[in-house]
Amino acid sequence: MLARLRQIVQEVGSESDLESVLSLTVRRIRETMSTEVCSIYLTDTQTNRYVLRATEGLNQDAVGKVSLSSTEGIVGLVGSRAEPINLEDAFTHPSVVYLQSTGEERFHAFLGVPIIHQRKVHGVLVVQQREVRRFDESEEAFMVTLSAQLAGVIAHAEATGSILDVFAAAKQDDEPVTAKRFVGIAGAPGVAIGNVYVATLSADLRSVPDKPANDIQAELQDFEHALVQVREDIQKVSDSLATRLRTEEQALFEVYLRMLDDNAIPSEVRTKIEAGNWAQGALREVIQAHVRQFSDMEDPYLRERATDIRDLGRRLLSAMQQEGAERVPDFPDNTVLIADDLSPAMLGLVPEDKLVGMVSVTGSGSSHAAILARSMGIPTLMGVVELPYTKLDGRQVIVDGYSGRIYVDPTDDLLEAYSSILKEERAIEANLDQLRDLPAETQDGFNQTLWVNTGLTADVERAVKRGAEGIGLYRTEIPFMIRDTFPSELEQADSYRRQLEAFAPKPVTMRTLDIGGDKALPYFPIEEENPFLGWRGIRVTLDHPEIFLVQVRAMLRASEGLNNLRIMLPMISSVQEVEAALEQINQAFNELLEEGLDLQKPEIGVMIEVPAAVYQIGRFAPLIDFVSVGSNDLTQYLLAVDRNNPRVADLYTTYHPSVLQALQLIANEAHKYQKQVSICGEMAADPGGALLLMAMGYDVLSMNSTNLPKVKLAIRSVEYKDAALLLGQVMKMDESSDIHLLLRETLQNAGLTQLTRPVLPGND
Ligand code: PEP
Ligand code: MG
Repeated sequence: MLARLRQIVQEVGSESDLESVLSLTVRRIRETMSTEVCSIYLTDTQTNRYVLRATEGLNQDAVGKVSLSSTEGIVGLVGSRAEPINLEDAFTHPSVVYLQSTGEERFHAFLGVPIIHQRKVHGVLVVQQREVRRFDESEEAFMVTLSAQLAGVIAHAEATGSILDVFAAAKQDDEPVTAKRFVGIAGAPGVAIGNVYVATLSADLRSVPDKPANDIQAELQDFEHALVQVREDIQKVSDSLATRLRTEEQALFEVYLRMLDDNAIPSEVRTKIEAGNWAQGALREVIQAHVRQFSDMEDPYLRERATDIRDLGRRLLSAMQQEGAERVPDFPDNTVLIADDLSPAMLGLVPEDKLVGMVSVTGSGSSHAAILARSMGIPTLMGVVELPYTKLDGRQVIVDGYSGRIYVDPTDDLLEAYSSILKEERAIEANLDQLRDLPAETQDGFNQTLWVNTGLTADVERAVKRGAEGIGLYRTEIPFMIRDTFPSELEQADSYRRQLEAFAPKPVTMRTLDIGGDKALPYFPIEEENPFLGWRGIRVTLDHPEIFLVQVRAMLRASEGLNNLRIMLPMISSVQEVEAALEQINQAFNELLEEGLDLQKPEIGVMIEVPAAVYQIGRFAPLIDFVSVGSNDLTQYLLAVDRNNPRVADLYTTYHPSVLQALQLIANEAHKYQKQVSICGEMAADPGGALLLMAMGYDVLSMNSTNLPKVKLAIRSVEYKDAALLLGQVMKMDESSDIHLLLRETLQNAGLTQLTRPVLPGND
């Protein structure tokens, strides 16, 4: 049963449109359970009725026509109770309502289970049988498990289906219909209006969008080149293994080559290209159709061939992508970049003067892609899990980075409303620019030091422009991520020197390589079940002294004559790790002295981002010069909430009482041991959060340069003693949502409405 269940989920998951998802589901369930009827009713959100959308066993003419309200029939009861109902004889149930046109009056046994996705009932899945019998426990368990697993697929296909309907309707009448809205997580604030460019994941057919072929001949040529290359590759592998393989294994290569024969897959792809899809989209269409056909087959050997087709598709796609990599796509002026999994490495894909917004189907507000987006000041959404992104290439969208919404094919009213927000935002920014050379000083004369976080090349320029007084966190792993190999010592030294020079004599805090978690290097993959609790940060570099030593040597080399370098260690959880890292830093330092460099010892600090570190500041103190709080990870680890997972995003909050307590404790402990304490997590970039941190006693707040003027304005608008009172009040509160409200109110009362979220259209 388990194998069958997996197979159904996989098969249904590879269908791309709602009708196929639903019809395949009912077909497969009826076969597997040997029932006479299997049907799916989906919730119509407009009328709040359950509409029969697919059936095997009931009258097909009734599909799309019959429906039940949430108080009607047993289907309505399953939906409103949100639990399964298993009846030996539905005829005897008081709620029974027969939908005459379906022909269901012949069936007695009834089992209905709700289809629930993200706490919402999307519909009801039903099996029925003529005889009077109760479906047994294992059948009920099968239906519940299958429904839970398919709910996401159905919800996604539903969203995709409706967007296609909208598109079709708009085309027919030449009139835009209501815009389609998808909801995700606000990743970076702001508003963008633009046209979509879908970034395809490397060799991932599912993420290939449909796009009109601008030049059919060029698309055909792209495909032919890929074909030649893949044929050659397969032939080469086959030749090199010829002596080692048995005849039947060798025959597999023959099968591959036959599939690539001109009359087979290639001719179908060519037809699709000639019909107007670009080469990669045409390939996706053809491969998916074949995979579906093979997966449907009864014979296990033939069913397995679906894997071969997928593999061939991947090879052809990869060849086309490599060929296309040299060509710079024609990005529209206002590009909204959409990706299945927006990674830090993808952020440089679109030239900055053309990029206005970004959207990721996966990830969350604390993912590194979102952090970098905030630093670039590009409105961004994360975790828009139901977005049918492959259908959106070239379409107009509004990205609302405040509420986490994206509108596809916006109406004129929406466009007008959001254009005026855009205009207001620009005016606010121009005002903030005037703060550049003013200190972050409260009304009663307290001076707060503000530094910036950097990582992207453009960050340095942005930071200097915004008047930063130093760098509190340079994420060195970011430049490592957009390369094909580890950079050499001299290459690293070169880029570090540029950061140090741009700020000298102001301090620059360079963090040693912090890879793992959601930061992967393409040339150093780390595959783990639980990456955030795995091989991350200092754990990786201590295991690889050759990487660590080269990086530290590069930092030290770059600091010669400038002497404004500080080195910071990520993910520290024990004294032993600090000692081991210091030993290597000393080794690198001494080696360079021996090589004749004139160096000063840099300050060394540790990040406090693992709860274990919070309680060891006194032990670290004799070994280090400063501590810096990574509130992003500290929040994730204190609350046991994956910072990258959209499902639990609403549980991730830095304003949780336990996080605030830990932050206060860290500041007190650091001062007890006369160590400088800074914070470089995202909380420092939130104007309300910055007021609390100032009152807690943080010596330095380090944030993205886009937010620096906003934080400065907040600090300049309050008295230190009022911030201290605010902190006292907040520390007594239990609910982070109440704390948010209080901070918002405080900013508004200080006349800082421009630092709070604007009033947005469509915010029901
Ligand atoms: C943090 O964890 O708060 C931090 C600053 O580091 P990163 O976000 O890069 O993990
Ligand atoms: Mg961190």
